[in-house]
Amino acid sequence: MSDRKEVKVEDIKREAEAKHCPVQKAMYYIEEFLADPMCGKCFPCSFGTYETKIRLKEILSGRGTEADIFSLKRIASEMIEASRCKKGKDTAKFILEWIDTGAFHEHIEGVCREKECLSFIEYKIVPEKCVMCGDCKVVCKYDAIIGEKRKPYLSGYLPFEIRHKRCTKCGECIKVCPTGAIEIVDIKDDIKVKV
Ligand code: SF4
Ligand code: SF4
Ligand code: SF4
Repeated sequence: MSDRKEVKVEDIKREAEAKHCPVQKAMYYIEEFLADPMCGKCFPCSFGTYETKIRLKEILSGRGTEADIFSLKRIASEMIEASRCKKGKDTAKFILEWIDTGAFHEHIEGVCREKECLSFIEYKIVPEKCVMCGDCKVVCKYDAIIGEKRKPYLSGYLPFEIRHKRCTKCGECIKVCPTGAIEIVDIKDDIKVKV
């Protein structure tokens, strides 16, 4: 008899719920499901979960369309109908539950409400709040922040700035800024402001 512990879909679901964004939850769940409980014995579940992963990847990358959501729903309904065991049917129900939050449609519109999906966000320094202390520049491992630390009694310093091409969105700078000058914004809105 094998000592290998069975991975339960309910446990994966619970772990997925630790994320905030429903699309991220779905991707975490599907990857974990594919890695273990999915046994490949029936077509609707095995094909359906692989296809689901591809569609989720598109949505998370910012290239998703309404057709991806339509396909995800179709795949899920086929899995509920024809999967051979409860694991496949439950998986489809979880995916539909996350789609029903409305977050998938928002991602198609270019917004991750939870600011968790890196393709949809960027880090930005609000000039009015920056006191030019330089703490963010010190912690940034990617040389993505430019600015000169203010010296007492000298004027003419400009607020620090983030170079988006170098920024990996690691989030370290936001943790050290003493004035809350670094914000996470929707790329979509920021582009609108720059135009
Ligand atoms: S539905 Fe059940 S039997 Fe079919 S592939 Fe999924 S886990 Fe295996
Ligand atoms: S998010 Fe990370 S990479 Fe981007 S500016 Fe901040 S510390 Fe640097
Ligand atoms: S840590 Fe905050 S206040 Fe200090 S330089 Fe960076 S953005 Fe400005």
